Amino acid sequence: MEIQVDMITYQKTLRNSISCTGVGVHSGKVVNMSLKPAEPNSGVLFRRTDVEGDAANIPARYDTVSDLVMCTTIENEHGVKVATIEHLLAALSGSGVDNVLIELDGPEVPVMDGSSAPFVFLIECADLVEQAAPRQYIKILKEVSVSEGQATATLSPGDHMTVSFEIDFENKRIGRQSCQFNLRNGTFKNEISRARTFGFLSELEQLKSMGLAKGGSLDNAIVLSGEDVLNEEGLRYQDEFVRHKALDAIGDLYLAGAPIIGQFQGVRSGHALNNKLLHALLADEDAWCLTTEAPYRTSQVGGAYWPEQKAAAPITA
Ligand SMILES: [Zn+2]
Repeated sequence: MEIQVDMITYQKTLRNSISCTGVGVHSGKVVNMSLKPAEPNSGVLFRRTDVEGDAANIPARYDTVSDLVMCTTIENEHGVKVATIEHLLAALSGSGVDNVLIELDGPEVPVMDGSSAPFVFLIECADLVEQAAPRQYIKILKEVSVSEGQATATLSPGDHMTVSFEIDFENKRIGRQSCQFNLRNGTFKNEISRARTFGFLSELEQLKSMGLAKGGSLDNAIVLSGEDVLNEEGLRYQDEFVRHKALDAIGDLYLAGAPIIGQFQGVRSGHALNNKLLHALLADEDAWCLTTEAPYRTSQVGGAYWPEQKAAAPITA
């Protein structure tokens, strides 16, 4: 039996810098990206190396989100943007990275394989280091829910970080799927991170004719034609579609600026509704509080890769 002890955990950043190169799914252009260590309490900051001065910096926060139509785009007060941040944000959340500087020489995060797995791999290669500042969590104190049509997104109190999701597509290959995860002990890496984004061939052709999804291909998405999966290798999980929706939600929620202690439930939700949920939550001061009391040891939040860290002394009442 496991004994839960309230304890503080410490913020983490990367031990080393690491780089990758990939194509932007919408621009179709090659982007070079570096993930670098960052100071405690600095959060997730994007920097465009092709832009000069302060205008290059774009903090990844729920209130810098400017566009949610095809992907999550953030923008600073100078109008400088970075698009398609969601799968990287999910990897940072799932791996327990609090502070990181992300440098890019273009306006879009590389899509890689359409999942978070390549980013988790990069983070593991860079390794993590604890910093001399306690991690703060956003603890949910009462239920907050937003809806639009048949879609709802809800955060409610809970002792852990759990994500559950439900989708219902007319397309029989997807159909009705649901999943629920407790985000600890490598759950994100093992059960969620490899789930790819998905789309329909007809939509992809339409998007390309509109000048979007120029980099979209079978290399970075599950593509369906009717009920057939066109990717030769098939699916990575039987319910890969709903797992990807959970992955998206984990990335979207990380824009709150701190890990959330509570239960997320999404029903047919997407980036826009998840962001609306964060606005509703954070605008209601009775619905949440900041706490340094962690639900788990930090190492249990990240991938299975990291060795158990020395826990801080339990807080005694
Ligand atoms: Zn996605």
